Amino acid sequence: MTNRTHFVLIKREGLARDGRALSALESAKALVDGGVWPLWEHTRNRKSIGAGAKLAVYLAGQGGKVIATACARDVTPWSASLARRYPLVLDGVPEAAIHLQDVRMLPTPVQVRSRIGELSFLVGRNASKWGVAFMGGTRAVSEQDFRVLTTPARLPGVAVCIGCGCDDMHACEEGCWWLRVDREVQLGVCSSCATHVSRWDAGDRSLSEESLAEDL
Ligand SMILES: [Zn+2]
Ligand SMILES: [Zn+2]
Repeated sequence: MTNRTHFVLIKREGLARDGRALSALESAKALVDGGVWPLWEHTRNRKSIGAGAKLAVYLAGQGGKVIATACARDVTPWSASLARRYPLVLDGVPEAAIHLQDVRMLPTPVQVRSRIGELSFLVGRNASKWGVAFMGGTRAVSEQDFRVLTTPARLPGVAVCIGCGCDDMHACEEGCWWLRVDREVQLGVCSSCATHVSRWDAGDRSLSEESLAEDL
């Protein structure tokens, strides 16, 4: 398959409709809460992002970090009714709208600076210039790079349950063991979370809402 399926959505600071200045985080949250992410005319990848695409929400400026993941339920042409519901002042001419589903806030943001050595598209780049790789509204990334961008830092060797967020150092109250564990990505499914085994076996490594609520 040559279709790109993993993308980074880049958000900068913006303006609320009442003119209030919003940080990149506030702007991104407003879009994610509204469930619609605009694609501007001339935005890179606007024709490649389709239903089922996996998305990472990246905040530009102030270090650059990934704060959430989502999935594209659908991509539709921009419309007047979308414009009416849009929570921010439009930054440009929207061409299409990504309708988001399965939005998950990361328990701790991933600072891109700390992952430079692991991202294939930054290898060989001047370490001080990597921010350039996150311009243009969106960026297509490989599945591996997507995982690096969306997996919060963990203690070396400690695996986390994708169902409940328990880990090697903090088992579930009733005691638990790994039904599945991948030491390389530091993720697993513990014995309290058997209902997550089927999605794990289908290749889904995303952390559930419940596991993200856990204080790691
Ligand atoms: Zn669990
Ligand atoms: Zn557990």
